[in-house]
Amino acid sequence: MTEAAVQATWHPRPQPVVDPSLPTRVRVYEVGPRDGLQAEPEILPAAVKSEFGRRLLASGLPAVELTSFVPARWIPQLADAEEVVAELDVPDGVRGVALVPNRRGLDRALAAGIREVAVVISATESFAHANLNTSVEGALGTASEVIAAATDAGVPVRGYVSMSFGDPWEGPVPADRVAELASRLHGAGAHTIALGDTIGTGTPGHVIDLVERTTAAGVPRDALALHLHDTYGQALGNVQAGLRAGITEFDSSTGGLGRCPFAKGATGNLATEELVWLLHGLGIETGVDLESLVRTSQWMSRVLGRPLASRVATALTAAGVA
Ligand code: MG
Repeated sequence: MTEAAVQATWHPRPQPVVDPSLPTRVRVYEVGPRDGLQAEPEILPAAVKSEFGRRLLASGLPAVELTSFVPARWIPQLADAEEVVAELDVPDGVRGVALVPNRRGLDRALAAGIREVAVVISATESFAHANLNTSVEGALGTASEVIAAATDAGVPVRGYVSMSFGDPWEGPVPADRVAELASRLHGAGAHTIALGDTIGTGTPGHVIDLVERTTAAGVPRDALALHLHDTYGQALGNVQAGLRAGITEFDSSTGGLGRCPFAKGATGNLATEELVWLLHGLGIETGVDLESLVRTSQWMSRVLGRPLASRVATALTAAGVA
């Protein structure tokens, strides 16, 4: 590429072409401060985590998962949840969510002023034992207790089903089993069920099959979300499949923060910048300011002292846009 090309004057942005068969508006559910940072090796100061949350809450995102109220010995990266949340003001109309693993975590989140929480179950016994320290039924039981107590406190609950596509120990995960567990978690009172492709092996046909089986099992389509990972480069293709299946909430992480815990050195979460670029290119409204996200990625890249995984952030930075 010549120097002249590098200094091109076009301000790159998606050129919207609407596909009338797709949803007109989508909610981007930002997981960077929780799912991103918990999978990064660095432990950042509380002030940096608060600043990350503040920037994201100001960028037009409708939902930001701010932290996790887990025991410090489980996830030292998020040991200072109270301190981080105390410095944040969640704007009206924005969901400021915290993950809680159990009743103790819920109590801590409520005391910290959190107004929406998320719970996690596993579609496989191996992941339930390895990461949740229980069985599949045990995790569902704990999640149900948390949902009941949160509901009593007037706090809505989002539910994750981890390992919905593939499992690093068990291999393929039966879609009907995922659908059944998603239905039970929804029946327990979780308002949204996020199907997690935790190791990123899912492909578009698999996404559509899983969405259809889950809706057939009784979970309304508008109560489903997809939590997709880009470990095998499939995330945006899987988003497109999800859109075709009528899904209107997608999880992503600004900068692509969050490595794959099961594939050393590999990418984990879909980058929010990539998701927003695709959605805006399809003429789908998000309310998200892409340049604001890129500036946050640039800031986080300086904090961490290394480039982040988002290709959109990298390209827009090189183009001098944000
Ligand atoms: Mg993730």
